[in-house]
Amino acid sequence: MSTVRRAAAGATRTCPHCRTVILQSAAICPACKKHLRFESTSAAQAAAAVPTFSPLRLEGSVRHPEAGAAWEYSIVISVKNDRGDEVTRQVVGVGALQPGEGRTFTFSVDVFKPD
Ligand SMILES: [Zn+2]
Repeated sequence: MSTVRRAAAGATRTCPHCRTVILQSAAICPACKKHLRFESTSAAQAAAAVPTFSPLRLEGSVRHPEAGAAWEYSIVISVKNDRGDEVTRQVVGVGALQPGEGRTFTFSVDVFKPD
């Protein structure tokens, strides 16, 4: 029986480097990729910080044609539960594409599964 008390699944904290809300179990911030200090260095917590699998990863590119005015874009992420209710909706970034410019967008879902 372990005496290490694990945080509830889905518990969050704020990254001290970039202020993004991340999983409490994260050892590396997925936003700024900086290492985070642990209050406890138990093997269980260290293992929990490594993604078990990534069931979804999408990548796509958008290119502005060489003529015309600049385009603006918003990157919106929506998460729905089994009933179709939206549980979160966030604009994670905005920007502009000048004629001839392109951007590649990558979206991934990483799952952390306990032993
Ligand atoms: Zn960070």
